[in-house]
Amino acid sequence: MSDYVNEVMDRVKSRDSDQPEFHQAVAEVAESVALVYDKHPEYRSAMIFERIIEPERVIMFRVPWMDDQGEIHINRGFRIEMNSAIGPYKGGLRFHPSVNLGILKFLAFEQVFKNSLTSLPMGGGKGGSDFDPKGKSDNEVMRFCQSFMSELFRHIGPNTDVPAGDIGVGGREIGYMFGQYKKLRNEFTGVLTGKGLKWGGSLIRPEATGYGSVYMAAEMLASRNETFDAKVCLVSGSGNVAQYTVEKLLQLGAKIVTLSDSSGFIYDEEGLTPEKLDFVMELKNVRRGRIKEYVEKFKNAEYTPVDPALDYNPLWDIKADCAFPSATQNEINEKDAQNLLKNGVYVVSEGANMPTTLDGVNHFLEAGILYAPGKAANAGGVAVSGLEMTQNSMRMPWTREEVDHRLSLIMKNIHKTCVETAERFGTPGNYVNGANIGGFLKVADAMMDQGLV
Ligand code: NDP
Repeated sequence: MSDYVNEVMDRVKSRDSDQPEFHQAVAEVAESVALVYDKHPEYRSAMIFERIIEPERVIMFRVPWMDDQGEIHINRGFRIEMNSAIGPYKGGLRFHPSVNLGILKFLAFEQVFKNSLTSLPMGGGKGGSDFDPKGKSDNEVMRFCQSFMSELFRHIGPNTDVPAGDIGVGGREIGYMFGQYKKLRNEFTGVLTGKGLKWGGSLIRPEATGYGSVYMAAEMLASRNETFDAKVCLVSGSGNVAQYTVEKLLQLGAKIVTLSDSSGFIYDEEGLTPEKLDFVMELKNVRRGRIKEYVEKFKNAEYTPVDPALDYNPLWDIKADCAFPSATQNEINEKDAQNLLKNGVYVVSEGANMPTTLDGVNHFLEAGILYAPGKAANAGGVAVSGLEMTQNSMRMPWTREEVDHRLSLIMKNIHKTCVETAERFGTPGNYVNGANIGGFLKVADAMMDQGLV
């Protein structure tokens, strides 16, 4: 680690000692920014990175709601408005019991660079709650969403801050929150993305993150004159990102053999098919069941429950060519990364945010595999959210083909930025530096232009 990185990390850790995920995200980007500072001391004197790591604003609030039995619950709501140098704050809302300030700060921080990479005018933000939608009735979820929005509406707006979905927040939750916002403000605007198609949503938004992650991997493979044809792929998660990753991989001729949820994973040696994916979508999006049910329906597949005694995840210990972590942060630790490499995986595209620990990332970089970090690989989701905002402003929807075409162009462009930037800063093939620096430069220049604010 350079002196500069040590200095930054000391400051971050002493200020917010209880935010390990935020430290991890900052440490990774700081290594890349140190390369920029060597060439551009003007950013250092303006303390650009030191300003980026401090949120412009943090909003934290009480979210009281009543369950179906009449009992009262009090959750905590957050919105981190991280950086607005290149556009309104933009980033998802996460509803999961693990949510806290440090996790949302790491996500908001990553979002700043990701949004910049899309080349669309979007700043970075993130928010959510420690509310757990699992096992709640639709009415309970609705009452929670209404209570959450009854405070959040004061802080957001189509030109200020435009939230979207993330873990635990899909079309249902966006619908309830949009309804409450509209009632409180008495206006119909594009204040949230991921909306339903009949009320301002964009075609391809549900698919965008998964499709984008596969487009990114396809670009990486193309750089070695390869395609997905017959490639064996590991996918984790079984939510929005995982489902559409599988859909696009199937279209491109790959063989997908795993899916997971927080209880365990399935291994289907014969590979998923469109029919099996339909079953998973119904299971997860309608019945809200567990992935274990996959093996009850498809008898040749195996289910492995999570074993907390293990210091690795057996999902990542299967022979394959490509891996698409699409569940959550730090789901690939150092040992998992070693197992992936040992089993022949040479393409990793991160659908999830920061799914690999720093040690794991270092193994991928040392091995010289095609490794796309989350802020590049999963930027397709927010990119199509940006396109949803454009369509809302024009009050004119685009066709499926138009949006998908724009998404694939944006992913190609992100790939190109990563490759060219990594090379320009002396680390060819290092998509981590490419993404971090590519995202940083645009935000840094905007901050320089706008003065000390
Ligand atoms: P969903 O809520 O739709 O699905 C999340 C999936 O990950 C579920 O299968 C869930 O299992 C699993 N999961 C969640 N937390 C854990 C955990 N702690 N341990 C193991 N498994 C877990 O979320 P998304 O698919 O939208 O998000 C997945 C990832 O992609 C996240 O990292 C998110 O930040 C990232 N992402 C999402 C974007 C989007 O557009 N939705 C955009 C960019 C990034 P279970 O049901 O058991 O909890």
